[in-house]
Amino acid sequence: MKNVVLLGSTGSIGTSTVKVAEDLPDQIRLIGLAAGGNSELLLAQTRKHGPAVISISDPAKAKALQNILGVSTQVYCGNEGLLKLATLPAADIVLIAIVGTAGLQPALAAIRAGKDIAVASKEILVMAGEIVMKEARRHGVKVLAVDSEHSAIFQCLDGKPGSSVRKLWLTASGGPFRSKTDWPKENFSEITVERALKHPSWVMGRKVTIDSATLFNKGLEMIEARWLFDVEMARVGVVVHPQSIVHSMVEFVDGSLIAQLSTPDMCLPIQYALTYPARSASDRVQTNFPKIGTLTFEDPDTERFPSILLARRAGDTCGTLPAVFNAANEVAVEAFVNRKINFPQITETVRRVMDAHKVVDHPTLEKILEADAWARCEAAR
Ligand code: MG
Repeated sequence: MKNVVLLGSTGSIGTSTVKVAEDLPDQIRLIGLAAGGNSELLLAQTRKHGPAVISISDPAKAKALQNILGVSTQVYCGNEGLLKLATLPAADIVLIAIVGTAGLQPALAAIRAGKDIAVASKEILVMAGEIVMKEARRHGVKVLAVDSEHSAIFQCLDGKPGSSVRKLWLTASGGPFRSKTDWPKENFSEITVERALKHPSWVMGRKVTIDSATLFNKGLEMIEARWLFDVEMARVGVVVHPQSIVHSMVEFVDGSLIAQLSTPDMCLPIQYALTYPARSASDRVQTNFPKIGTLTFEDPDTERFPSILLARRAGDTCGTLPAVFNAANEVAVEAFVNRKINFPQITETVRRVMDAHKVVDHPTLEKILEADAWARCEAAR
């Protein structure tokens, strides 16, 4: 039985994690749940799973929940609540699925408390990959990937060292604007928010769906992979694979390629992270090869999607640049969703903020957060 703390229980990854826990009631116990604002769903999850401790961002909502639930459940709020949950003595693993930078401090707190962490929030490794992985090594805990691509690479590597790897291949669906004939570069400025929110193969949250349309999502994943598997950026490749059946691949030094495949379903990588090193039986994911028919691969079009090049630059340079890349993109996506800028201006904004940044090498967490705040102001400007 694994005692799991779930930070971000009401979001897209969070609700999938709850499903996985319901699939495997004798293997996974949810002992702590934290949510951002959805107190109704948090209440329903708490009644169903009976965690001893929960947390919600808003203090007023926390008070209301405490009144409803009574003494059997301890209700915390805000960042303090996230830290309390991340360090719960009974927790074996903390799954962090909070959108944005709020997951970073709880991730480090969990590691320092000797907990394994499962990372769904990209910001954690993109912003502070060097610090997080160093701390994890120091405390002898595992950093497990929840993202389908990183879970795939983890499964393909199967404990082989970085020296046996020629290249890690992250697959990308290519997003809704993959086709150059349907979406030539000249037409990118006409892309509407509604159109960008329609993703061909995955159902996900709003921010990550826009990031999939710009390929920033893949850029963030490239930087994550660089830290998670300790390979330099030059050995992280991207290949567009519209069917999203091959979730990623490892090319070994002898030329052999190992890939992980399945019908897309986030429950699979979540379950693997939570049950690792075991593989637990579940009927949820079924793959029908004749129905899939063809698997295709193509190079990413970096002329229409320069976010890939910006990510490579950020991951090559390291220091505070990946945090700046991430923060500027968050602000730009928000501006696009609010119809203040057009689609190509998302990438353009990030590029300009990166150009203006003075990189700090081997930054402390403080310096990273400073760079993050600076990039947000600069991008907004
Ligand atoms: Mg992904």
